Amino acid sequence: MTPAAFQSSASISCAHCTHDFPVQLTHVVLPDTDDWTSLQTDDFNRVVCPHCRHDGVIMAPFLLLHADRQYGTCFITDCSQLSHDQQSQLVHHLRDRLYAGLEQLGLDPVELNQVGVTERYEMVILLVQRTADPSYN
Ligand SMILES: [Zn+2]
Repeated sequence: MTPAAFQSSASISCAHCTHDFPVQLTHVVLPDTDDWTSLQTDDFNRVVCPHCRHDGVIMAPFLLLHADRQYGTCFITDCSQLSHDQQSQLVHHLRDRLYAGLEQLGLDPVELNQVGVTERYEMVILLVQRTADPSYN
């Protein structure tokens, strides 16, 4: 189950019918979880409009904790257009969500040695797909 600290509520407008509806977005992904699997299949933060059934993936910022639990990757849309301070604020915010969520889950805390930032969604997908492949080292 995804802890509350990993999620936020938002209201979005359907790209197809412009109907507004509430969604729950996930901002932290742990290794070996349903969220991790949904990233592999491109279903992470996928939402369906209750009005017209149009579906799409919401490109909300999130932090991916790597399988070694020492490194993280933050996906932030258009992060190259943010200032260094804005980027680092967002990374800190996501990292705090990670720490709070681990506590809620009763899991061991992690110390992130390094957090990378990318705005390339396909790189994140590649990362989770490679980690799932036992032949990848
Ligand atoms: Zn719709």
